[in-house]
Amino acid sequence: MQAPIHSEESFATLDGTGIRYAVFLQGCPFKCAYCHNPDTQPFAGGTPVQADDLVKKILRYKTYFKGGGGVTFSGGEPLLHAQFILECEQKLAAFGIGCALDTSGAVPLNDAVRAAVDHSEMVILDIKMPNEEGYEKYIHGSMKNPLALFDYCVSNGKRLWLRTVIVPGINDREEDVESYLALIGERIKGVEKYELLAFHTLGFSKYEKLGWENPLKDTPALTNERLAALQTYLDGRIKEIL
Ligand code: SF4
Repeated sequence: MQAPIHSEESFATLDGTGIRYAVFLQGCPFKCAYCHNPDTQPFAGGTPVQADDLVKKILRYKTYFKGGGGVTFSGGEPLLHAQFILECEQKLAAFGIGCALDTSGAVPLNDAVRAAVDHSEMVILDIKMPNEEGYEKYIHGSMKNPLALFDYCVSNGKRLWLRTVIVPGINDREEDVESYLALIGERIKGVEKYELLAFHTLGFSKYEKLGWENPLKDTPALTNERLAALQTYLDGRIKEIL
């Protein structure tokens, strides 16, 4: 089986534990206002790669995966290509290599998605907005699929990290953090880590290259100080809840 790959990174460290081989798959059903990789969104594009060829290439890096590393499928939305991921997961598992899924949960929870999740070591799920209104306005999609995936991971005891991008003027207040916690509710007990990420402007030039309107072109990057303050607030609140 083949899938369109946007890009690959052989020594990624941010999307999971240890040193990761990150595979960015092409295509995304969402259109987040703050997307810093808009070139991964179009369904057309990317380089078609066979699962066997990708696995062969990844095996060259096997030695670097000691200490909790492995492969991360990201995007775009990787679970658009769940069958391809499942094939890679099964082939890599034969060599003792585990895979993480870095997903927005945009696709429906069908059998292929369930199987890819079941065969993954962990899921890193974006919770983009705290309500349906926010998803409609800033993500151009619904929160229904991400929440279904969230429930599936929690109810199956899947190792799970959550992530939320914090954007100045949109969701950067303590009361916004409270809204996310209210949405998550009891499910927080099944979450190993909840990480806030800063909106940045590094992807702005990509919008120009694509000839796309950048909806946040006048929004400044979130400062490290504000990010740290909100993460501290969130961690404190999670401790209280648990
Ligand atoms: S889900 Fe990710 S790739 Fe898709 S539009 Fe949003 S930020 Fe971009």
